[in-house]
Amino acid sequence: MKLIYDDTQEQLILDMIAIGEKKFRATQVFEWIYQKNVTSFDEMNNLSLVLRERLKEHFDIGLLKIKEKQVSKDGTIKYLFELRDGGLIESVLMIHDYGRSLCVTSQLGCNMGCRFCASGLLKKQRNLTSGEMVNQILTVMADTSERISHVVVMGTGEPFDNYDEVMNFVHTINHPKGLAIGARHITISTCGLCDMIELYAHEGIQSNLAISLHAPNDEIRNELMPINKKYSLDQLRESLKYYIEKTNRRVTLEYILLKGVNDELIHARQLAHYIRGLNAYVNLIPYNSVDEHGYQQSPMENVEKFKAELLRLKINVTQRKEHGRDIDGACGQLRAKKVGEQYGNSNQK
Ligand code: SAH
Repeated sequence: MKLIYDDTQEQLILDMIAIGEKKFRATQVFEWIYQKNVTSFDEMNNLSLVLRERLKEHFDIGLLKIKEKQVSKDGTIKYLFELRDGGLIESVLMIHDYGRSLCVTSQLGCNMGCRFCASGLLKKQRNLTSGEMVNQILTVMADTSERISHVVVMGTGEPFDNYDEVMNFVHTINHPKGLAIGARHITISTCGLCDMIELYAHEGIQSNLAISLHAPNDEIRNELMPINKKYSLDQLRESLKYYIEKTNRRVTLEYILLKGVNDELIHARQLAHYIRGLNAYVNLIPYNSVDEHGYQQSPMENVEKFKAELLRLKINVTQRKEHGRDIDGACGQLRAKKVGEQYGNSNQK
């Protein structure tokens, strides 16, 4: 059965008409779910009993099952959720001075195969639906009794490998009668699927784009990220130029500093050269080590030197704070562990 959260406002109108109801019922249902935060049709008491029964026949409703929850000393909460089909996904809530941000998962597993990432330890089984992404937010808001103000699609999965569902998700949570999360507070992170970056340029929404760059040249990027063999750094730069021209928006380039791999001064210079002329800034990310991969976090001294070199070359740079270091912080770690336990730890398959 269809999950009601899978419907955007526009789709819900169509579905209401299809079951012989008036258009405005869609708005009422949308408001009950997203503004009054109810989780069953029975609570929607301005709808007739007949309509409530009809909705139950056509739609599933209800929050995700919380399988596990880890709370860090810094307030970060890592959730392990179970989907209706038993699939396990993670979401991470981070507390910032500017608000509460949720890191949302977009696929069950991931096929991009980035060498440093825990998510790719488990291959993609399927895409998440828009409603399953929306439900991560609803469930965390209900569990914490607090509003979520920012969303980053940086959990397991490649959002641009699940483009349509991710866009429906963005539209639903951004809708004024939905969760009304400002588009500028929503960020989609991609490993660099160029065709989709260009499509996103035409989406007509003010949400942000972040690119997992992580390397200053093709040689290193080919090593770290297999996607670079399909879309080279030059191609990626062309797509970014196109996106920036069309949207007039600044792009974030994420760069994980890995000890002895991409953290030397020469790399900072190559990176600066790559960015020159792009309306973009670099976000330096501390690496959360994943036992299976063997990469190490750059020592603070290298990070400072790398950052100073970018600044000297007039490149805008920020440094991401580490969150949840004392829990299974790295993307996909908690899930990989759990699925591993379920299947007798054969999670490398
Ligand atoms: N597939 C998308 C979104 C998921 S990854 C993408 O590639 O952007 C979200 C971000 O976390 C990416 O920048 C990714 O490279 C980074 N990341 C993955 N593993 C990490 C780790 N162990 N430590 C720190 N960042 C990591």
